[in-house]
Amino acid sequence: MYLKEYTELKNEELIDRIKTAKTEKNAVILCHNYVRDDVQRVSDILGDSLGLSRRAAATDADVIVFCGVMFMAETAKILAPERTVLIPEKGAGCPLAACATMEDVLEMRRKYPDHIVISYVNTTAEVKAVSDICCTSGNALEVVKSVGEAPVIFLPDKNLGAWVKRELGKDNMILWDGGCYVHQFIGLEDIERARSENPGATIIVHPECPPEVTLAADVVASTSGMYNYAAKHNEPIILGTEIGLTERINRELPDKKVGWMKGSAICSNMKLITLPKLARCLEQDIYEVTIDEPIRAAAEGAIQKMVELG
Ligand code: SF4
Repeated sequence: MYLKEYTELKNEELIDRIKTAKTEKNAVILCHNYVRDDVQRVSDILGDSLGLSRRAAATDADVIVFCGVMFMAETAKILAPERTVLIPEKGAGCPLAACATMEDVLEMRRKYPDHIVISYVNTTAEVKAVSDICCTSGNALEVVKSVGEAPVIFLPDKNLGAWVKRELGKDNMILWDGGCYVHQFIGLEDIERARSENPGATIIVHPECPPEVTLAADVVASTSGMYNYAAKHNEPIILGTEIGLTERINRELPDKKVGWMKGSAICSNMKLITLPKLARCLEQDIYEVTIDEPIRAAAEGAIQKMVELG
């Protein structure tokens, strides 16, 4: 069946087909917090990129379907090389991850041979393979702290890097000039509007937001950190991140008062994952994620160094 034929099916039929194919293939569906609500609802495990990959590596599923962007599916393959990893849309890339290539990083390493290269997980497998250690938005502070006084090249998100630099007072960090189009356009005016419209609300922003925004917010947290904060607190909360996380929290924690800061903070790359594509993916194994073994093994090394930090 072609994709067009799947798009002509009703959602109920698509969901039935997804469930049937999932059982037949002993598959698990992982889904990032920013993916469309209807896809989140048929998924088995929701979360952020690394948390999902860790869960994938720990399941006994033969097939992992990753509803997210390509670097996330690659990370699942890096950590679970013996499993078949599928992504419903191979064109679901991440412009932030595309900001740094392996050649760029090797060039920087030649220029600054004494620097430790710390890569955010939002990078390709090739970039991870030539990095010393990976980090997530949730553990970036701990990872950078772990290298002590050593100089660092931090990539690819300059806002996350600037936040880490400011929080740790670490001046010897070279920041890559990359950014996420969803978070870098959240501005001070969005915080001010959120505060005036929601007096008493706690304002939480993602560290990929610009420095003036992370400085003005009440809390800076990863998507998992935002979810956990909402689960533990009862005051109104406004989230400065992609709207999909707010949709998930409102669905799973209906007693909480959580809203988004900016309705246009939408990752169109994540929204490329749809129910028709997910049904086709499960029924026809489209698209399989593969990584050359030397690259995969080297990338796993950089991720494992991060994991060993706890
Ligand atoms: S939200 Fe930003 S970092 Fe995440 S996938 Fe979209 S563009 Fe990439």
